[in-house]
Amino acid sequence: MITDLVSKRVRELESYKAEPVLSGLALDKNEIPWSLEEKVQEALLDRLKSMEFNRYPDSNCTALKEAISRYTGVGTASICVGNGSDELIGLLLQAFIEPGDVMAVYNPSFSMYKICGSLCGAKIWENNPDWDFRLKPDEFVSGMQKEKPKVVFLCNPNNPTGGSLELEELEQMLDSAPGIVVVDEAYYEFSGITATSLLPEYENLIILRTFSKALGLAGLRIGYMLASPEIISYIDRIRSPFNVNAFAQLAAEVVLENMPLVTERVKIIKDERERLRKLLAGLKEVKCFDSGSNFLLLQIPNAAEVYERLKDAGIYTKSFNRPPLRDCIRVTVGSRQENDRFYKALKEALYESP
Ligand code: PMP
Repeated sequence: MITDLVSKRVRELESYKAEPVLSGLALDKNEIPWSLEEKVQEALLDRLKSMEFNRYPDSNCTALKEAISRYTGVGTASICVGNGSDELIGLLLQAFIEPGDVMAVYNPSFSMYKICGSLCGAKIWENNPDWDFRLKPDEFVSGMQKEKPKVVFLCNPNNPTGGSLELEELEQMLDSAPGIVVVDEAYYEFSGITATSLLPEYENLIILRTFSKALGLAGLRIGYMLASPEIISYIDRIRSPFNVNAFAQLAAEVVLENMPLVTERVKIIKDERERLRKLLAGLKEVKCFDSGSNFLLLQIPNAAEVYERLKDAGIYTKSFNRPPLRDCIRVTVGSRQENDRFYKALKEALYESP
């Protein structure tokens, strides 16, 4: 009975799968391996003392927007803060998509684009890559000219493959896209590539960022959008007025006041990524893709079995076993000790019988 009542769009939807890792080593969600530095935690706790928990949060995220503006160099009128960038993906699609409009994604990419797009009734055009999973800008551009998508998602660096487009390639896309181009920079701090300098030139550009990755606040759900003031004003019409809670706003401000600590951590993760990649290069069964992010995509024969073996050893990774990602696992780069534990367990899964 309920099934008949549910809208067709929801009935056909697959939910996003993210298991909580209650015990064991979580290398499945691309978080950083450390909680807040003691110094940052203390600053936050100190500021919390004067927080009025009985009051609604600042609906405009005024102080946080000012801090984001200082960090990104983008004016406050061009910033919208969300309950995770996931919320902003849904909101921007609601703002631009009418049922039947085309939305373009590069395949494989972050699955929330397709989930939220389907919910809005978008027709999804997927550009499928070759074996190397690299987006080919010329091919994508000619596809866009044919399909005329109203919204295009480019994840840079791309989750789950790790590859990045250069600024010139993004410009090529922006020049030929007939509608909105969303550049999702969730992993920007690890890649150093950003499209912010293109914002004044392209009114169809939307950049998404998050505090969940390098900035270490995944538990608090904060993301932000950078776009023209006009786009931001439309998003502001549809977001719920108190979408970002007061505690999250404060924590994000305090983290931005301590950016040198974030930068130090980003350097450690990038060094670890290269160390792990070199170790993996020694395993002839494992193909490791280039990554400008804090995770590595590995193609391994019998990846599903390897995934289970790692799980039995208490190590959680993300498994992909549908085309175009056959026999792949994605592993988050953790601390040195965590990466060594992963590498050892991977070798055991590959070379030792259970
Ligand atoms: N974009 C990408 C590419 C991601 O990988 C993620 C999280 N995995 C998100 C957006 C969502 O981030 P948030 O935690 O800010 O909702």
